[in-house]
Amino acid sequence: MSRERLLFESLLQPGEDTVAKSGFRRVLDAMGIRADDPRLAESQRVLSAIDGDRIAPDEFVDVIGPNALLLDRALKKQLVIPDFEEFSRDVRRIFEATRGNAAGVVADYIPQLGRVDPDQFGVSICTIDGQRVAVGDTDRPFCVHSACKPVSYCLALEEHGEEVVHRHIGCEPSGQSFNELTLNREGRPHNPMINAGAIMSGALIRSRKPMADRFDHVMDAWRRACGGERPGFSNTMYLSERQTGDRNFALAYYMRENGVFPEGVDLVETLEFYFQCCSIEVTTEAMAVVAATLANGGVCPLTGERIFGAGTVQKCLSLMDSCGLYDFSGEWAFRIGLPAKSSVSGVIMTVVPNVLGVCTWSPRLDEHGNSVRGIDFGRELVRTFNFHNYDSIVGGLHGKKDPRVLREDVQRSLVVDLCWAASEGDLAGIQRLVLQDAQLDGADYDGRTALHLAAAEGRDEIVAYLLEQGVDPAPVDRWGGTPLDDARRRQHTRIAALLQAAGTRTASDAA
Ligand code: GLN
Repeated sequence: MSRERLLFESLLQPGEDTVAKSGFRRVLDAMGIRADDPRLAESQRVLSAIDGDRIAPDEFVDVIGPNALLLDRALKKQLVIPDFEEFSRDVRRIFEATRGNAAGVVADYIPQLGRVDPDQFGVSICTIDGQRVAVGDTDRPFCVHSACKPVSYCLALEEHGEEVVHRHIGCEPSGQSFNELTLNREGRPHNPMINAGAIMSGALIRSRKPMADRFDHVMDAWRRACGGERPGFSNTMYLSERQTGDRNFALAYYMRENGVFPEGVDLVETLEFYFQCCSIEVTTEAMAVVAATLANGGVCPLTGERIFGAGTVQKCLSLMDSCGLYDFSGEWAFRIGLPAKSSVSGVIMTVVPNVLGVCTWSPRLDEHGNSVRGIDFGRELVRTFNFHNYDSIVGGLHGKKDPRVLREDVQRSLVVDLCWAASEGDLAGIQRLVLQDAQLDGADYDGRTALHLAAAEGRDEIVAYLLEQGVDPAPVDRWGGTPLDDARRRQHTRIAALLQAAGTRTASDAA
């Protein structure tokens, strides 16, 4: 049977021979695939050309034809977050848990920033497979400000390579606030994630071209990284920035004094370019796709288009890791353990490499200039999921969830590993599996447990350990056998004694 036909059958309700359009949409919705996903444009077109609400088998082939692979993976729960409904529920819960925090104040050093409604809060997430969830104020435009820095840095790297870019910018956290009047020992900006560094990245982008072309180039990268959604531009913010940009002017003069700009750079143009980049407007929806593009190694998940080279993204994420939250970067790396970039508008974009991008936006800031709710959300995110960079070192879930795998699959494979370890007499292996949340009582398809296997293979130490841990001493497999039956059959008398002492009976004793 063809893949299309199999998919069709999997969507059929009992007793029906056509699929409801609404049912098909609901299934995609549950996977986090949006109706307006650019990858589904052709499918949507075919779907809306079908009269009525039912899809016949031959029509279905046309509907999913252009996207058979994506839909096949989605329906088989093979996308990066297979149970997206459960994941979305968790995201909503985290959002609710964080929204109550009204601490912090809105930045007002640029008059335009002080005028936003401070209560707004939006969270959008996009996975590397383009699954999306959005909660709260996710359609309000805000200016990217410092969140332009990773993109500008990537563009500078793509144009000149690491060697040249880092002749002008360092890669060390400054330990200072984002606009501190300070440079490193060589007179260069400490890194590309603070103002001085971003002004320098800008100076390296198409520097010999007219301003309009340079800005077009930046906007084009943003548009493509957003998956086609058109980012806006706030002229008011730009004017406000320019008028109140004394500190940024001071930083630029300081860099010029140190002779670290590339040759021929016009200082005022460079600053204006930086202010323009800060004034690009997005929503959390668009920004989450940019974060997902970084999570996906530079390929936009919604269009499949490569925006940045993987090597560029690797460097950018490394610096977001160490320098993305100004003088809170170390604390963030320690507690949240993910590359991120914050800005004065209250946005934090966070990247879980190879999994997803998150964008939170809420304007109230803490003393470091980072969004209070954004930080809370990040904390709660890694408390819920094993996303911290070094969760893998600890091993096991420790009460966290791994949304990358289906829970049933994890337990199934843990049981198989446990039975293997028990039959091999590998006590250390069993203890490691316990750390990974393996259930010692778990049974495989045949109802065989670790205790059955240990008893059958004469593993005294394992049997003693399992009994000590309080497992059921007499589980029954699908042939009606208990571990004591196994021990007796293979004449493991010590084990039989152990099991009997634990009050076990054989299936025949029971009869
Ligand atoms: N536009 C801001 C500035 O240059 C960006 C800084 C920030 O977001 N922290 O001052």
